[in-house]
Amino acid sequence: MNANLAALLYLASGVLFILALRGLSSPETARQGNRYGVIGMAVAVLTTLLYHLPAGFGSFVLVLISIGIGAAIGIWRARTIQMTAMPQLVALFHALVGLAAVFVAASALNAPQAFGLGAPDAIHAGSLIEMAIGAAIGAITFTGSVIAYLKLDDKMTGRPILIANRHAINIGLGILLLIFAIAFSATEAHFVFWLIVLVALALGVLLIIPIGGADMPVVISMLNSYSGWAAAAVGFTLGNLALIITGALVGSSGAILSYVMCKGMNRGFVSVILGGFGGEVAPKEAGAAETRQVKQGSAEEAAKLLGKAKKVIVVPGYGLAVAQAQHALREIADVLKKKGVEVKYAIHPVAGRMPGHMNVLLAEANVPYDEVFELKEINPEFSEADVALVIGANDVTNPAAKTDPSSPIYGMPILDVEEAKTVLFVKRGLGSGYAGVENELFFRDNTLMLFGDAKKMAESILRALD
Ligand code: NAP
Repeated sequence: MNANLAALLYLASGVLFILALRGLSSPETARQGNRYGVIGMAVAVLTTLLYHLPAGFGSFVLVLISIGIGAAIGIWRARTIQMTAMPQLVALFHALVGLAAVFVAASALNAPQAFGLGAPDAIHAGSLIEMAIGAAIGAITFTGSVIAYLKLDDKMTGRPILIANRHAINIGLGILLLIFAIAFSATEAHFVFWLIVLVALALGVLLIIPIGGADMPVVISMLNSYSGWAAAAVGFTLGNLALIITGALVGSSGAILSYVMCKGMNRGFVSVILGGFGGEVAPKEAGAAETRQVKQGSAEEAAKLLGKAKKVIVVPGYGLAVAQAQHALREIADVLKKKGVEVKYAIHPVAGRMPGHMNVLLAEANVPYDEVFELKEINPEFSEADVALVIGANDVTNPAAKTDPSSPIYGMPILDVEEAKTVLFVKRGLGSGYAGVENELFFRDNTLMLFGDAKKMAESILRALD
């Protein structure tokens, strides 16, 4: 394959990736978006393989075997992963992207001829800088993502681990990286390259361990952005248009996603990155001290209230995902609609554990898109609702976000469920949510607590409605 055709095909794959991102912006077009992404990636991989085929049939076969092994592991993992464990999986993927960027930069340094970078010891300074940037961002992404994975998967404490003078240490390491990168671009010394990798690996750990579990999804999306920039830097080294385009797309979309999440949680991006939030109150401790009384209801009482209502607003949250209660929930809505009840769904931007988590669950249960509303659209309607059915959600309804400046979630926009005539909370107990703070709504007069697993409780309500 000649270089012009390869460049054209890379450009086509870039366009397909942009169409994929566009498609993924709405649940109606997400499947089509995914298809564009798959086709774009297939075009990019095949073009790369065919373009480099003259490099030798042996390496071609090796690459095919590697792709086969990787694809088999990927398909198995994608089929077996729980939706709630998706953030951890994504963190591991980013770790691999970071590691790949380091390996590609190291390979380019060791065999520059194979990458079209000239003879060893005579690599252009520009290419050396690209290698240094790619390897540094890649190494930070690698260790940072591994720590994020360990925290999210409860394999290490989710609480911030605060090291004395950490900001000074991080700045020091950042300056060291800069000095090594300049030295490397001037000397092409291999050991300086590995010093860059070593310092960046340490920086990745130090940057992520002070960040609490509550901020981890933002960190993951930030690391997603880093992995994109690492790929783009490597793309420049390799002169690979597809890598530059995809790297830039991943880098910028990850940055935008981090911003959207920070806004949804009312956290400053810089304060997330500097770390230290999200572990002050352990969820279990917060719930254990409670002695106030709550009104506990049964599925039958809930069914009666729902059946009599004119308007019901459903607020799904993380517990819905854990219990996989979305199908039973939709069946409840179907019965209610047949009875003439107006049913709407309210989605908070950070309900669940990743943006769009609830939209995906509801779409999976075939909830019509026109019944699903975002926070700003639905909030004025709670005061007209007879029942707010909060199922597996907690933080996103907590009025402390509006009233208690000392609360860690203060300032986070929340769903005004308390304005409905009755609030039904489906959850297993009085446990707190992700932010580890108590929800004072449980103790209000117009609240009825329905204790139990979300799926079992939804099924009981459904039976009671018939
Ligand atoms: P949440 O505040 O974490 O509350 C979920 C509730 O579900 C818990 O209080 C738990 O109470 C209940 N639950 C757990 N398993 C259950 C089951 N099997 N059946 C019934 N209930 C169950 O969830 P949320 O309201 O969706 O809020 C999301 C939180 O995640 C926010 O704090 C947000 O800032 C954070 N976050 C989200 C994102 C994102 O992108 N979506 C990113 C970063 C952080 P019990 O233990 O009493 O059952």
